[in-house]
Amino acid sequence: MKKVAFYTLGCKLNFSETSAISRKFEEKGYRKADFTDTPDIFIINTCSVTDNADKKCRKIVREARKISPEAYVAIIGCYAQLKPKEISEIEGVDAVLGAAEKFRLVELLDGFKREPLARILASEIDHANAFEPSYSIDDRTRTFLKVQDGCDYSCTFCTIPLARGKSRSSTIEEVISQAQDISERGVHEIVLTGVNTGDFGIRNGKREDRFIDLVRALDDQVAVDRFRISSIEPNLLNDEIIEHVAASGKFVPHFHIPLQSGSDRILKNMKRRYLTDLYTSRIAKIRQEMPDACIGVDVIVGFPGETEADFLETYKFLNELDISYLHVFTYSERPNTPAAEMVNSVPHKERNRRSKMLRILSEKKRRAYYESQLGSIRTVLFEEDIQDGKMYGYTENYIRVGVKYDPLLINELKVVRLSNIDEQGNAEAEEIDLVLH
Ligand code: SF4
Repeated sequence: MKKVAFYTLGCKLNFSETSAISRKFEEKGYRKADFTDTPDIFIINTCSVTDNADKKCRKIVREARKISPEAYVAIIGCYAQLKPKEISEIEGVDAVLGAAEKFRLVELLDGFKREPLARILASEIDHANAFEPSYSIDDRTRTFLKVQDGCDYSCTFCTIPLARGKSRSSTIEEVISQAQDISERGVHEIVLTGVNTGDFGIRNGKREDRFIDLVRALDDQVAVDRFRISSIEPNLLNDEIIEHVAASGKFVPHFHIPLQSGSDRILKNMKRRYLTDLYTSRIAKIRQEMPDACIGVDVIVGFPGETEADFLETYKFLNELDISYLHVFTYSERPNTPAAEMVNSVPHKERNRRSKMLRILSEKKRRAYYESQLGSIRTVLFEEDIQDGKMYGYTENYIRVGVKYDPLLINELKVVRLSNIDEQGNAEAEEIDLVLH
């Protein structure tokens, strides 16, 4: 029985797709192995958003070759779609597969026989128009279920539409059926994932459903404890969705909403589909419906032309906004994007300084949010996340809670009272005896 190992870089979508591809291998009689367990085949799922994607890819290929010098090495993922030729020239690579080909990898590379030259199976991105359902099951506690892929927006800094193609989705029936399968495996939390998740509902280039229809159907028909929405564009997060989550017993009060800049001038240059007023109104609506909701924000610093004044506008905007944490990205030029051609690029040292300032702000926001929740009663889903005799899990509103390690708590939902914040900044809990499952 041939052994196959996977290495995944990048986002949750990549992880869910690696899982789906690994299941296809298992169905064909291959055995899944650890990366270091001398596999016969290595599949490396790459990311184009990761800085130094090229260097990382080379490094993993080198490591794979060291572990199994004769193994077959195939590269898939966003970076493979964007730079197939470049990757095929990396020493030790046997095949590169694009977005339209990666799910047929087992059939296309039948036999996995090494040849003197690397094979490139990567068609133009417009060929990637099928939707491939995927979900990750590596971690029993929480599963990432892909409901949507690709993006029809054209944010000037982003390569994702080039790497993943047009917006397309699963059907509501298919998502429900997968969510039911997942829940039957004993998973308590399903995270709905996509490139532009809120754009769910496009099939063959036509809008067939809306994201709110999916949310309602899942709530009605799937007996899982928790649904979490991974990330949603502010212009798509409408009142209907917010009100549904507020009233739902399953959709948790946690939103992750990309902002990218607090300057309207920069938002326009980024070709985002909203301005700061709309963003503020979304946060206000969430707070009105769910005062304790956790709100995470993506922000990019150092976009071309971002002056000190623009950055300070962003800082002030975020400082005044009632949010819980930030994900800060330092802008870096991506080939073939309009932003990479823009003038007035921000010096790297300055990008790093701005990034640091926002990271400090994020820590302050997170701390204040955690403090606001002390004394409240929450449900924690404990994970196999164990460090120094403690184990961790998340509340519905995304507070990381640590308690003394107890193996029986793994994958259990427990009602706790948040009591304290420890030195690492995690919440501590008391009264962990009321078991829900
Ligand atoms: S919404 Fe913008 S940033 Fe997000 S994937 Fe689409 S193009 Fe990229």
